[in-house]
Formats: sequence, C-alpha cells, structure tokens
Amino acid sequence: MMKLSDISKSYGAGSLIVPVLRGVDLEIGDGEFVAIMGPSGSGKSTLMNIIGFLDKQSAGVYSLNGEDVKDSNEKQLARLRNEHIGFVFQQFFLLPRLNAQKNVETPLIYSGVPKKERAVRARELLAKVGLEDRMTHLPSELSGGQKQRVAIARALVNNPSVILADEPTGALDSKTGAQIMELLTKLNREGKTVIVVTHEEEIAACTDRIIVLRDGLIVEDRKVTA
Ligand code: ADP
Ligand code: MG
Repeated sequence: MMKLSDISKSYGAGSLIVPVLRGVDLEIGDGEFVAIMGPSGSGKSTLMNIIGFLDKQSAGVYSLNGEDVKDSNEKQLARLRNEHIGFVFQQFFLLPRLNAQKNVETPLIYSGVPKKERAVRARELLAKVGLEDRMTHLPSELSGGQKQRVAIARALVNNPSVILADEPTGALDSKTGAQIMELLTKLNREGKTVIVVTHEEEIAACTDRIIVLRDGLIVEDRKVTA
C-alpha cells in the first residue's frame, strides 16, 4: 500500500521557485485500479514520478509498504523502482534497434539474468500481451498498439506490484486505446496495482477510482460506479 502525506514538489530555486505539488494526501491500497486526471500542467506526471521513485518530493512523507523513502539516495531509489514499479509512457520509449524480445529483455540484462532465462521470460511476457508472433519484429515494424504492448511486457519483466502508466493511450486511436485498457484491466485483476494518467473520461471510466488534480492539489477523489 502506498501512502502520501502532505507531499509538495517545487522546481527551480530562489525567486524562480515553481510549486508543482502543493500538499497532496493520498492512499492507494494494493490491487487498486486508479485514474489520475486533471488539466495539463496540474502535476500528474510529477506525482507519478514521485510514486515511481523517479523523482523525490521536496517535502512530505511518501511510504510504500511502510517503507519511508524520504532519506533514500539514488541507489536506494533505483532499487525500490526495480523491485516494485513498472512504467509505461505515452511515447513507448522502445529501443529502436532492438526487436520486441530484446526490448523486453533489456531490464534483465542490467540485473544480470542469464541469456537463456531472459529469452524465456521475454517470450512468456510477449505471449501474455498477445504478441507471441511478433518477437523478432523491430519497433518500426509494429503498430502503435503493438508497441505499447511491448512496453507493457517490458514493464512487467521484474514482476512489479505496481504499474504506472502515464497517458498510455495518448498516442493511440480510441479503439486501440480501449484494447490497451483491457490489457491493464487484466493485469489489475491478476493483482497488480495499476495507476493510469489520462485526459479521457472513457479511459478513466475503465478504472475503479478517479483522482483529479488541479494546480498541484487533489480536488476530487471518487469511486467509479459501474
Ligand atoms: P502534467 O503531467 O499534469 O501535465 P507535470 O507534472 O508534467 O504536469 O508538470 C507540472 C508543472 O511542473 C508544469 O508547469 C511543468 O512545466 C513543471 N515541471 C515539470 N517538470 C519540471 C522540471 N523538471 N523542471 C521544471 N519544471 C517542471
Ligand atoms: Mg504529464
């Protein structure tokens, strides 16, 4: 379970300091499926980056599973990230010269997993996202939806408990976006905590809970009624 208490984040220094998050209180339980909405610039990505240990709050307390991360250094943040978090982004961020299988394997190379084991794991995850027949395709040979599936498979490779998806359907047409949401729903049903940033009501409506940010504050937090 994640707990954020009075989280603030500012960028810049001195008289140029820009407050981006201004006291966010938020609890998200294990296995929740949450959408974060709000206007451009309201702090959604900043909040996701703090939740995912890509960035650190300026003030306030963030703990995951009771572990307070306030005094963590870069190395400890990287460990928390690798152990707990899978990231998915609007722009996929696949490595263009590597095929689907190698893209999925890449995080395992960094954690020293042997080649054979990596290949097995990548195959298993690409099958899970419906791409067992696209293992050797380069990103340029895949559709947008397929690229996002590869990115999701890669996000799953360390078996994280939390998937953070920052506008995962933002670069996709609505039908493909709906398919990506089906996949994220399936992962949530299997037990993952899934947090999705989106501008689209239809996408948010696939989740169980909608949080709205405005000017760095949570202004709405409601259950989605089926
Ligand atoms: P959202 O994802 O809701 O569009 P962001 O969290 O990306 O909003 O950004 C919120 C505000 O913080 C914006 O005004 C943005 O310009 C600013 N911001 C984000 N990242 C940085 C940064 N690294 N340095 C300075 N300002 C930033
Ligand atoms: Mg953003």
